[in-house]
Amino acid sequence: MAKREIFSGNWKMYKTYDEAVELVNGIKDGMPDTGGREVIVFPPAVYLRDLVKLCKGSGIEVGIQNMYFEKEGAFTGEISPLMAKDTGVRYALIGHSERRHVFRETDGDINKKVKAAFEFGLEPVLCVGELLEEREAGNPEDVVNRQLELGLKDVSSEQMSNMIIAYEPVWAIGTGKVATPEIADTMHKTIRRKIGSLYSSETAEILPVLYGGSVKPENIADLYSRDNIDGVLVGGASLKINSFLDIIHVNIN
Ligand code: PEP
Repeated sequence: MAKREIFSGNWKMYKTYDEAVELVNGIKDGMPDTGGREVIVFPPAVYLRDLVKLCKGSGIEVGIQNMYFEKEGAFTGEISPLMAKDTGVRYALIGHSERRHVFRETDGDINKKVKAAFEFGLEPVLCVGELLEEREAGNPEDVVNRQLELGLKDVSSEQMSNMIIAYEPVWAIGTGKVATPEIADTMHKTIRRKIGSLYSSETAEILPVLYGGSVKPENIADLYSRDNIDGVLVGGASLKINSFLDIIHVNIN
């Protein structure tokens, strides 16, 4: 099976409605002949239904940045997986470091969200990654292995064929400090090794593992040249049409 190549943009809590439409139209206009390259955007939830319509047939897929795990109920302010699915999105970003560290989501919450995504027909993009102090303590692999083990509890091998993992070291997100391609590649290998032990070597081999953390047009080529980096999850640089287009065109022009 050919490996997937995935270029995704997490817009976080940025953009008014008009700006979001302008950004998506700009990406649409500049979409490369990607030769199978996949592009995903994660806009703020209030724009999802409209942006899904706007992206139809363009090659751009849309995902939700976060959701709750219950189908419905007295959970003021939350969005359910059923509601997310109803907007037409294909993907759900789960366990982003801002969800883990600003909103205190636990691995248990994240596991419930991963399972809820599958239950409602959404494809999860599960984010893992260590804090700076965890890297400095010398055990970033243990952190990521634990996040995978707990986050994927009771996820079947079959479901793993619709799973994407994003390695996002927390110290590299929004800081301008990109992980070196060597660090990213090593951590991606660690992720594959863990998936191999939890599932099978075939599952580990085909699983798309994306890198996220200060990806820019200036550093994408080096990162993307590494064997274990199947794509990227881009924050800041996905908010500008030209910088996101430069990233998704890497090695094409
Ligand atoms: C992100 O939000 O997932 C991210 C990687 O942000 P940035 O690219 O801005 O570091």
